[in-house]
Amino acid sequence: MLVNLNDVLLKARKEKYAVGLFNTIDTDMLEAAISAAEELLSPIIIGTAEVLLPYGELRLIAPSVIEAAKRACVPVAVHYDHGLTFERCMEALKLGFSSVMFDGSAGDYSKNITDTAEIVKIAHAFGATVEGEIGHVGEASAMDNDASDMYTKVSEAAEYLNATGVDALAVSIGTAHGAYKSKPKLDFNRLSEINDAVSVPLVLHGGSGLTDDDFRTSIKEGISKVNIFTDLCAAGTRAMKKGLESGLSYLDIRSLRVSEIKNEVMKKIRLFGSDGKA
Ligand SMILES: [Zn+2]
Repeated sequence: MLVNLNDVLLKARKEKYAVGLFNTIDTDMLEAAISAAEELLSPIIIGTAEVLLPYGELRLIAPSVIEAAKRACVPVAVHYDHGLTFERCMEALKLGFSSVMFDGSAGDYSKNITDTAEIVKIAHAFGATVEGEIGHVGEASAMDNDASDMYTKVSEAAEYLNATGVDALAVSIGTAHGAYKSKPKLDFNRLSEINDAVSVPLVLHGGSGLTDDDFRTSIKEGISKVNIFTDLCAAGTRAMKKGLESGLSYLDIRSLRVSEIKNEVMKKIRLFGSDGKA
């Protein structure tokens, strides 16, 4: 069934597990993610991100994701990840996404607040939820130096939340998007302080490549949603390589890819503790 973020995250926050957001660029990844959630009776969040649109057009991917969510026997939130512009967020809402992220975190703090608040007002009228970001989660490829000046400040998180009314908040505590060059070190004290200061579910971006312990501690200290994409691509790439080396046909390679991505999603669902929570 199609639900929004509040339907899956408020329970997760209370019971201290996390729900995964798995970004998909095509119906193969979509099938893999939904079937993993159904098999483990887990709520799930499926999305695509604005930076992924060159690989899967929003107006083409939206109807399949929404239809798959409606058909699923588990709760599925359909989330537009890292919306960078007002127009694209509105397009996602009009196409039926039950949730959008507006990410104004790279720009000016007060503009981030004004822009996010406007999108929250409209999204809520659609019955959709909004995730915002304060502090900034950058790209792993650019993380050579200490990025702690981009970390979420506890006081700003509370202020941002009150001023915007977002339903979930992405925090910057040391993770980054993409494949890490060296092992990230997460600021769990900061996470715990933010969790004490705000009343909405917190979101961890840049989840691919963290250790199992990193995830467990993050969830214990207040993370209720984890975004995963890079690890799914890695699983798919491994499957394609294996299929080619074994001389499999195009269709058999496709099946192998879906099944390997599904396994990766199932691994994450178990690790996040959302299995059996549908
Ligand atoms: Zn992200």
